[in-house]
Amino acid sequence: MQFKDYQLSNTLIKALDLLHFNTPTKVQQAIIPLALEGKDVIVKSQTGSGKTAAFAIPICERINWDENKPQALILTPTRELAMQVKEDFFNIGRFKRMKVMALYGKSPFHIQQKGLKQKTHIVVGTPGRVQDHLDKGTFITDEIRYLVIDEADEMLRMGFIDQVENIIKTLPKERVTMLFSATMKPHIEKLCESYMINPVTVEI
Ligand code: AMP
Repeated sequence: MQFKDYQLSNTLIKALDLLHFNTPTKVQQAIIPLALEGKDVIVKSQTGSGKTAAFAIPICERINWDENKPQALILTPTRELAMQVKEDFFNIGRFKRMKVMALYGKSPFHIQQKGLKQKTHIVVGTPGRVQDHLDKGTFITDEIRYLVIDEADEMLRMGFIDQVENIIKTLPKERVTMLFSATMKPHIEKLCESYMINPVTVEI
């Protein structure tokens, strides 16, 4: 199986070529078709498995470039991971001219606010700063159709899980939700039960 065997646009295949991504990793083989179909997924896998591209590829494929409001939200436990995920989205969505904003603390709020006022397709952020933008009305979520909770076990360990839940509650119900975690704790399982619809579990 190669990336060109999936139903992906040429702009994406061109970007994957440039990154020298020819063969999908195991987690990508499992997730990409499910996400393209609009299924909710719970993924138990480690970092280094290619999980970022596993969610970034189907999301980039499905983003409507003409829509002004953000269509995908990726929640990460740390700013470093948010920056990395933003870069991966930029690289994969490069020929689709995708605008990706990263929202994290210790970085000026007003600059992020200004960025969000312009067309933004994808928002990647840490729970605290995303919540700040929601509270101030600077991040509009009514067109969000994709939600990714990355490293859910780390979110729990760092005490962010209630904030993640509060953010989920503000999102449109009609969406695709993907949750990634190396381990599944009861609190995370509860989150999946409450906010995902018939999720498919993939263990790599
Ligand atoms: P991740 O698990 O998302 O942190 O990805 C681990 C590393 O694998 C990153 O450096 C990616 O750029 C790389 N990678 C992801 N998917 C592929 C692929 N299909 N082929 C080659 N490298 C990949």
